[in-house]
Amino acid sequence: MTATRRHVVVAGAGIAGLTAALALARTGCRVTVLEQAPALQETGAGIQLSPNATRVLLALGLGDRLLPHVLAPQAIRVMAARSGREIVRIPLLDVPRRYGAPYWAIHRGDLQATLVAAAQAAHDVTLRLDSRVEDYAVHAKGVTVAYRHGHRLLEERALALVGADGLWSAVAARSGRQRPPRFARRVAWRALVPAAQVAEEFRAPLVHLWLGPGAHLVHYPVMAGSLVNIVGILRETRERGDPHDARHDGVPPSSELEEGPARHFARRCWCAPARALVERPARWQRWPLYHRRGPFPGGRGPVTLIGDAAHPMLPFLAQGAAMAIEDAAVLADMLHRYGDDPADALRAYEGARRHRVARVQQVSRRNGLVYALAGPAAALRDLHLRRLGGQALLARQDWLYSWQAPDLPRDVPS
Ligand SMILES: Cc1cc2nc3c(=O)[nH]c(=O)nc-3n(C[C@H](O)[C@H](O)[C@H](O)COP(=O)(O)OP(=O)(O)OC[C@H]3O[C@@H](n4cnc5c(N)ncnc54)[C@H](O)[C@@H]3O)c2cc1C
Repeated sequence: MTATRRHVVVAGAGIAGLTAALALARTGCRVTVLEQAPALQETGAGIQLSPNATRVLLALGLGDRLLPHVLAPQAIRVMAARSGREIVRIPLLDVPRRYGAPYWAIHRGDLQATLVAAAQAAHDVTLRLDSRVEDYAVHAKGVTVAYRHGHRLLEERALALVGADGLWSAVAARSGRQRPPRFARRVAWRALVPAAQVAEEFRAPLVHLWLGPGAHLVHYPVMAGSLVNIVGILRETRERGDPHDARHDGVPPSSELEEGPARHFARRCWCAPARALVERPARWQRWPLYHRRGPFPGGRGPVTLIGDAAHPMLPFLAQGAAMAIEDAAVLADMLHRYGDDPADALRAYEGARRHRVARVQQVSRRNGLVYALAGPAAALRDLHLRRLGGQALLARQDWLYSWQAPDLPRDVPS
């Protein structure tokens, strides 16, 4: 296959799209990434990257760029919200030896900036901002992608189109094979606070997971320990605002607010240190959570989906970005292996991902239910976790963290 024929368009420059662009460039593709945003801004806050994801990032040669920004947590402390006592401590120090790749916490902006810098440094990757993919047409020679750049409607011809355009994917909508995501009756509240403003025990390189009735709280240091990332997840039966508007904008209806979720962390259910923490941030981002049941159905011809566009993921297993990163590696490998036949390559990619992604979605949903238990059920859960112990709880993730990335070529073939 000639270099000109191996042109792939990726819609979206999130974690999925940028990782895919880097992986595809490794396998000799020329990649155009079309991103609707006029500028790439820091969205979200902290993100945990488990070894199945860091393995891919390291294989893409991003280790040196990422290392200054990451923090390797020593353990996950699972805490009882009311008593403030540790239920169990899942050790992470041994993760690099056990899984062959590290467990990292990073600010999402740092991860995205690293991916963007690597994409800009790669000869075969072109990143076009302010370029919103609106439509595509499949034909004998591949696919023509229509995108809006300012007032102009432009076209890009390619061998394949990869929809990495997130939860409200235009590529998925255009393919007509995906049901729209549904509000998961949960809202994530996200904030960052200077580490100096939180209790000393919360500045340590640990992930804290507090389990309370109907809510849980996660926090860990990011930006080399200078900030603490806080996420509180609460039940909310009805979505505020009009999600249909959000779909037209192509972004989930997240909003930045001064009034945070502190009033939901009641004294009778939450101990003083946890309440002090949620009272600390001056600004919060409110992030409604969406999911879609059932495996992603796959594309048609030279078009496929990756990341949240393919399989929105509830954040109770910290795997949405990890799955996007895995997708990117498998996709690039399949396009490399199947040479001249992109449709076959994309169906092979979808087949390779379907079962694993469905399992992760299922475990994540189950975690969401278990985390939010109340009363005697919560007490039984805590007893069970304590009896199992941290090592056994880590071993339960072996199927997830031991995932082996396909070998991508080290150098771009000429
Ligand atoms: C509270 C919370 C905590 C989380 N924590 C973790 C964690 O610890 N670990 C983890 O692995 N995951 C975590 N996740 C999940 C993770 O953030 C997402 O799964 C991941 O960011 C999805 O990346 P993506 O690139 O698929 O989508 P997105 O990040 O949504 O990127 C899509 C991109 O496409 C662009 N776009 C949209 N429409 C178009 C269009 N028509 N044309 C061109 N561009 C378009 C968008 O502007 C955006 O840049 C968490 C999620 C939440 C909500």
